[in-house]
Amino acid sequence: MHELTAANRLLEAALEAASERNAGRIDRLTVELGTATHLTADQLRFCLDAITEGTAAAEATVEFDRVEPAGACECGWSGPTEPIDGVVPDAPSLRCPDCGRRLSLRAGRECRLSAIEIPERTETEQ
Ligand SMILES: [Zn+2]
Repeated sequence: MHELTAANRLLEAALEAASERNAGRIDRLTVELGTATHLTADQLRFCLDAITEGTAAAEATVEFDRVEPAGACECGWSGPTEPIDGVVPDAPSLRCPDCGRRLSLRAGRECRLSAIEIPERTETEQ
């Protein structure tokens, strides 16, 4: 199951970041999610809900930053890719508008943890 694998990776990254900062709890996760990944925020949220139980991220709010797809071509063109309307939603067209060659996707396939928020520590807390 693709979403679950992605969710596991995100959780691992979050728990690692939290332990580096000696945080026992994570308040918020921010995830960069490319629109060309075919993963949806809802599915990922659902998976994360299931797997964070009993971890430091159990109560964490999950936020998603959508990343629009962008491509680059050998001819030097680069920019946002056009969606193929009506065929596959969110699938970028990978044809260069200048020369027609195949673009390489430079953005839009992200599924990574971009930030975590942990509780502020007071100076007396130890
Ligand atoms: Zn081109």
